[in-house]
Amino acid sequence: MSISKVAVIGGGTMGNGIAQVFAMKGLQVALVDQKPEFLDRAKATIEKNMSRVVKKGKLDQAEADQALRQIRYTTDLGTCDGVDLAIEAVFENFEVKADIFRNLDKTLAKGAILATNTSSISITQLAAVTERPGQVIGMHFMNPVPIMKLVEVIRGEETSDETNAAVLAACEILGKIPCVANDYPGFVANRILMPMINEAAFVLMEGVATKESIDNIMKLGMAHPMGPLALADFIGLDICLDILNVLHSGLGDPKYRACPLLKKLVAAGHLGRKSGRGFCDYREQA
Ligand code: NAD
Repeated sequence: MSISKVAVIGGGTMGNGIAQVFAMKGLQVALVDQKPEFLDRAKATIEKNMSRVVKKGKLDQAEADQALRQIRYTTDLGTCDGVDLAIEAVFENFEVKADIFRNLDKTLAKGAILATNTSSISITQLAAVTERPGQVIGMHFMNPVPIMKLVEVIRGEETSDETNAAVLAACEILGKIPCVANDYPGFVANRILMPMINEAAFVLMEGVATKESIDNIMKLGMAHPMGPLALADFIGLDICLDILNVLHSGLGDPKYRACPLLKKLVAAGHLGRKSGRGFCDYREQA
């Protein structure tokens, strides 16, 4: 099946980026959020990002305007019945996502694919709330979506080969590189990344090195573009903690227990860049 019409549900950090990249490739996109003001915010972000694309010379103004016209903003999921692919990018909460999957399953045509951008929730469990588990799949885009090349494609227990093939083709249209994983807690990206971030937090807590040393050792020694502590602040420490908890409970191995320092920072509201403080302090830069 080929994909030409897409719905993106949730116009936050990830959803607006996903809508933008599809629109830039000429696909029709419906961007759905709960309130008009959330859609206004998503639209303003997309317009700002598109003007950066024009400044960098990747598109001319007419092409950017055409891409912007590809996006329709709506609070009504019911108007997305004609799409071939719906990508859910709402809060990382099973019940919220399951509700949307039940609605999409009722609304969308029989052949349409339901994808989720979840970082850690089981694709198989989400698929099980629908009548079309073969057409449910994970499309885990990376932040910031317009820049990052990877899409981690996660096959649930029932995901069909046809669904997988259609989603791989859609990623290629976007100029992204899809990498397929099976549905186990944390998939691949977070299963490997989060224990590294957690270990960096333990190293800091135990006084093995300063935060600057930890990040510089991993940047200069391992050629990582960002150190693990700076990266954790960028992702959000609450998100890191949630994913570690998913790994810990889903895999049952004590090696995934979250570092007490990470828990303490989250309890104090120091969530990283978004709250002004995390492992590092960003208040001066605001
Ligand atoms: P966000 O909080 O920035 O945005 C979520 C959006 O969903 C909000 O605009 C909210 O209003 C909307 N929403 C909530 N319930 C809704 C509903 N019922 N109908 C329509 N819209 C609804 O979140 P985000 O950071 O964009 O994350 C979205 C998803 O992507 C999560 O599953 C997250 O785990 C995943 N993810 C996030 C990142 C990241 O770095 N932020 C990276 C990869 C994957």
